[in-house]
Amino acid sequence: MTIRIPALAVLASCAAACTPAPSSAPAPSPAATADATAAGAPMGPLVRDVHSFARPNEARVTHVDLDLTTDFSTRRLGGTAALDVWAAPGAGEIVLDTKNLTIDRVTDAAGQPLRFALGEPDSILGRALTVALPAGTRRIVVHYSTSPNAAALQWLTPEQTAGKRHPYLFSQGESILTRTWIPTQDSPGIRQSYAARITVPAELKAVMSAEMLTPQGEPAGADHRAYRFRMDHAVPPYLIALAVGDLAFRALGPRTGVWTEPAVLERAASEFAELEKFVDAAEGLYGPYRWGRYDLLVLPPSFPFGGMENPRLTFATPTVLAGDRSLVSLVAHELAHSWSGNLVTNATWSDFWLNEGFTTYFENRIMEALYGRERAAMLASLGWQELQDAIREAGGPTGADTRLHLDLAGRDPDEGSTNIAYEKGAAFLRAIEQAVGRQRFDAYLRSYFDRHAFQPMTTEGFLADLRANLIRGDAALEARIQPDAWAFQPGVPSNAVQPQSTAFARVAEQAQAFADGTRASALQTANWSTQEWQHFLGALPPRMTPAQLADLDRAFRLSGQGNSEILFAWLMIAVRHRYEPAVPALERFLTTQGRRKFVRPLYAGLMEQGDWGQALARRIYREARPGYHPVTSNSVDAIVK
Ligand SMILES: [Zn+2]
Repeated sequence: MTIRIPALAVLASCAAACTPAPSSAPAPSPAATADATAAGAPMGPLVRDVHSFARPNEARVTHVDLDLTTDFSTRRLGGTAALDVWAAPGAGEIVLDTKNLTIDRVTDAAGQPLRFALGEPDSILGRALTVALPAGTRRIVVHYSTSPNAAALQWLTPEQTAGKRHPYLFSQGESILTRTWIPTQDSPGIRQSYAARITVPAELKAVMSAEMLTPQGEPAGADHRAYRFRMDHAVPPYLIALAVGDLAFRALGPRTGVWTEPAVLERAASEFAELEKFVDAAEGLYGPYRWGRYDLLVLPPSFPFGGMENPRLTFATPTVLAGDRSLVSLVAHELAHSWSGNLVTNATWSDFWLNEGFTTYFENRIMEALYGRERAAMLASLGWQELQDAIREAGGPTGADTRLHLDLAGRDPDEGSTNIAYEKGAAFLRAIEQAVGRQRFDAYLRSYFDRHAFQPMTTEGFLADLRANLIRGDAALEARIQPDAWAFQPGVPSNAVQPQSTAFARVAEQAQAFADGTRASALQTANWSTQEWQHFLGALPPRMTPAQLADLDRAFRLSGQGNSEILFAWLMIAVRHRYEPAVPALERFLTTQGRRKFVRPLYAGLMEQGDWGQALARRIYREARPGYHPVTSNSVDAIVK
């Protein structure tokens, strides 16, 4: 792959980036850097990432070796990160990313101290850690500890777990949080293999997004055990992940299984019993699964996301344990990331749609392969609706953030993490599929993953690949696909294909019948799937009477729903109508899970409901906030002032 290197952008905070280097060695000249990277960099020159202080074309981390001890009483990880370094000839220093880390000292592999300096803090990026590299230095060792408030780490009290007896720790690296627990070059384009030795209290177990070398652990001092891990593939640093808790494992197939707290294991194993089939289906579409095992870790309810595609070990919210396997499309999504995202990775966060748009498209293809066209059509149709909502929230079809390729300079990359990346990205791929036919598009995608496996990808790089290997100079095809309009223009181009579901058409008729006065109990809802219920609730009239709401609630026991998606859709309606009888269910939902997708819109909805909603939002949030992950509470803090 060839990546075009744009002129270096000026960092939002020059204070940090421009801190004088501690080393007396001269900075390498641009020419020397270019020559050196061409000759020997592990992956060729990299594009500038405005969310990292690293200068990877001068010196780059290629491997991370962690030796860390978890201290639940002080909520810190402490120990060493030994980093293997590639350096261009003449490079006298390496620049790492850190945030809220305490750096004790830095040495070379032999233990000789190396000079280092921390730059000025930037509220988004953290602080650059610049380390001198005397000639020939190939390994540096950073002695450090994390802060109790490290944004990547959530330390749970026993009360916040399912078992209520042991504390729990988990990490979440995406987008730029890995630097709050590992001092490395925290940029998705700078791939690093890793190894780790994690010391934990003897009654707990550590798992990581890597091969587990010591399943039983090994003795490590009084009342502690250590677990060793190895990830031989180079991965973007946001995929280095750790969880520590009272964990049990159940195999689900030859290369699949589920980890979770013992109290949840039975439910989780039953919900994901078909996991092995998912991997088989994905391989049938895009080629071999290259990561060895595919296991799930079902986390405590404060996990802020649906899932996180950590290699070999997807982290998942317990809110998908619906009891009927109706929400397993989440697993299809995280599994698809084993190709789009983990194998071919967005080079910068401006290219985030390459991870999520591709994955949303593939998720739907896996669901179609496993459950048939109608289920896939329903899911795609719900996604299309979410795209319309996201465009509205981004200021309408001319809004700058409705572009796929985003300008995120000076902004937190999480601002680009909207449904535009997911659903407009997927719609782009559906439009290509429509233009060339499924067979030809599938062959192209499979070859794309082979061509770019274990490499970063930019939006420009993808379009160049598309033109070289699919469009091939066919001007009429280029005009039918409109690649530049999709990637760089706001709104949705004219060739978008709106998904159609016949089941949803029937559901919409029932919603209309209810609007026209049919009682809820007289509607034809037998055997509806979760997706049909979601569509029904979305198709109800925007204004309903208290009697209509009570009729719905009674007939379908909506406030007592155990299915998180259906309950969420119902509570959004209840909030909009200030429907008092649903408040206990709302309070229960907001205080017993912290998935941002559910939590943020409900608080935002409450705040739009005058004194009634605002008082409720503040009261519930006071109680719920300590249980939320920082990713969620940061979002809600901005809403509930
Ligand atoms: Zn995703």
